[in-house]
Amino acid sequence: MDFSISPELAALEEKIRQFVSANILPCEQDPASYDDYGNIKLPLLHEIRQQVKDAGLWAPQIPKEQGGLGFGPVGMAVLYEAMNYSIFGPVCFNCAAPDDGNMYILNQVATPEQKARWLQPIIDGKARSSFAMNETAPGGGSDPSMIETTAELKDGKWVIHGRKWYITGAGEAEHFILMAKTSDDPRQGLTAFLFHRDDPGWRIERRIGIMGPEEHGGHCELIFDGLTLDEDRVLMGVGQGLKVTQIRLGLARLTHCMRWLGLAKRAVAIASDYAATREGFGIKLADRESIQMKLGQAAMDIETGRLMVMRAAWRIEQGSKARQDVSMAKIHVSELLNRVTSDAIQICGARGYSKDTVLEWIYRYARQALLVDGATEVHQMVINRFLMANGHDFWTWGVGDD
Ligand SMILES: Cc1cc2nc3c(=O)[nH]c(=O)nc-3n(C[C@H](O)[C@H](O)[C@H](O)COP(=O)(O)OP(=O)(O)OC[C@H]3O[C@@H](n4cnc5c(N)ncnc54)[C@H](O)[C@@H]3O)c2cc1C
Repeated sequence: MDFSISPELAALEEKIRQFVSANILPCEQDPASYDDYGNIKLPLLHEIRQQVKDAGLWAPQIPKEQGGLGFGPVGMAVLYEAMNYSIFGPVCFNCAAPDDGNMYILNQVATPEQKARWLQPIIDGKARSSFAMNETAPGGGSDPSMIETTAELKDGKWVIHGRKWYITGAGEAEHFILMAKTSDDPRQGLTAFLFHRDDPGWRIERRIGIMGPEEHGGHCELIFDGLTLDEDRVLMGVGQGLKVTQIRLGLARLTHCMRWLGLAKRAVAIASDYAATREGFGIKLADRESIQMKLGQAAMDIETGRLMVMRAAWRIEQGSKARQDVSMAKIHVSELLNRVTSDAIQICGARGYSKDTVLEWIYRYARQALLVDGATEVHQMVINRFLMANGHDFWTWGVGDD
């Protein structure tokens, strides 16, 4: 069993670390870098994205022939963690949600013509994108079979009516992937559609304020009142919507974990720095056993998360869907991000609660990790389903070749 990474990947990880440290971390310190929603201002983002391209670090998850560096999930696990040492990191490398997941699904299932029109501009950083699935009650939330947005074929065109909400990035996106119901079939009743911001028949009803910092374009409620699309806007085929969702979310959930591990490492670094210099009651905080236990626990939680993420990434690269691995990693990493950040704030005292470090930013952001791309309870349900189906064989290593 070999847990090491290739020299090529290790070298790229180091380059990304250095780039983040030299070009992105300084921006975090400057209040002028932030937009009204706690994210990096768009003009600054465009500047840094150009620097990333010039440094040859753009879109490592994208095949080389499409303008990326050609790394699969294992490489992404290493690199995304390094990028998200900065809160602004992933978006600077074009590795942030939801574009990242949208690029992945389009690359997996779109036709060559659809890739040219809908995918390449996102890869090139010329367009942003959204994935619109979640609905207001009684529509589809955790349970996609409840989706109520309908698409009806009329005179050779799909006509779409419905309402979606919490659609990340919708205020900035030009390219959208939309999930709608096309029949009552329980497995093949959903279809994925592609639409452009300028297509008539839909609108953004409101940008929904949230607890944490916001992705560019926010989290929006969308109304579809007759969005009309040609048949070539169907992605992967009529009735294949659930499959599109599963393929997209499988890796997207894991890439969230990859990034969250970077944020958790950053929280530990800030807390460790503070503990190393702050004295009280005669000794440094770092010399107190209770502080050492907190930091030791955080380090172990993060390492456990890295192993879970890496095994799921490796399994996906081997052709498995790795559904239970992804669900387990999603629960563990989202929970550790919340725990580790909270402990880091505690170690830093008032400074941890202030805006002098990014800890409070990470803490506010972290809460959504327990909800997005499947709430914890839904993933527990999935894991249990595999346990019930496989019994003792749930815990297998898999046997490799000699
Ligand atoms: C910041 C943010 C960004 C988002 N971005 C997007 C996006 O870009 N596109 C998109 O389509 N959606 C997006 N969402 C929506 C997200 O995917 C949903 O919030 C999530 O799927 C849960 O759906 P829901 O909110 O309707 O919760 P509900 O389905 O109403 O569930 C509410 C709660 O019930 C519990 N629960 C649900 N099912 C079970 C179960 N089987 N067993 C036990 N307990 C259960 C869970 O605790 C859950 O949190 C985003 C949400 C947030 C918060």
